[in-house]
Amino acid sequence: MTTPYIVPIRAFTDNYIWVIRDHCHAAVVDPGDASPVLDYLRREKLKLIAILNTHHHKDHTGGNAALLQEFTVPVYGPEKESIPTLTHRLKEYTEKEKEEGNVYLSEFSLSLKVLDIPGHTAGHIAYYGANLLFCGDTLFGCGCGRLFEGTARQMVDSLEKLSDLPKETLIYCGHEYTLNNIRFARAVEPGNQALIERKAAVVKLRGQNLPTLPCTIALEKATNPFLRCNEPEVIRNASNYAGTPLTDRVSVFAAIREWKNHF
Ligand code: ZN
Ligand code: FE
Repeated sequence: MTTPYIVPIRAFTDNYIWVIRDHCHAAVVDPGDASPVLDYLRREKLKLIAILNTHHHKDHTGGNAALLQEFTVPVYGPEKESIPTLTHRLKEYTEKEKEEGNVYLSEFSLSLKVLDIPGHTAGHIAYYGANLLFCGDTLFGCGCGRLFEGTARQMVDSLEKLSDLPKETLIYCGHEYTLNNIRFARAVEPGNQALIERKAAVVKLRGQNLPTLPCTIALEKATNPFLRCNEPEVIRNASNYAGTPLTDRVSVFAAIREWKNHF
């Protein structure tokens, strides 16, 4: 029983498959592709103990089946989505749903609570515990996921749920999008000094081909326009884009989400 640490495996062009591991065990979050995971496990001589999915998209679940051919492990995921390989269908953690709202990885004595965060997909979940957040395609470094199955209202509520987590929470999301997201954030909030600093740090990391993750809730609150829909400059520029004065958070969010889709 040791404290686990987190390692990224790159997949496709910009996906991250997160590995929760110690010296002999590993759990993987969102294995869209099995082969880089199997390579990693072999190279590091690790035994797979669990698969965790945040949502049903193929680039997050596509490796489940091939991993299950090599290892017999529980597959955790959202009860509200259709992922054929799931063995444990999870609900949001509440006092009533202590069992189905929780993933306990005994090898690491790590307990992760399930948060419902719909918006990108209808049943999207996050895993949170021990200062770690695995949030799939909902909250990204300086950005957020597209609204494929949910509404702006749902996404605003989901992002708020995440941003209410302790500010030092480490965010492990599904894609390396940070630099592009910062370019957009600079257009939305050119006066935000924290964005200039973040951009410099991120350019340096990407120049060395290093991940820009994990980031933290504190950094996201300071720089992520999708968490800053109450800021006057964000409201002003969202209204400019929409061509009409926007007053509430949800319409500001919807406008910048739409703007980002065409940026
Ligand atoms: Zn997705
Ligand atoms: Fe994705």
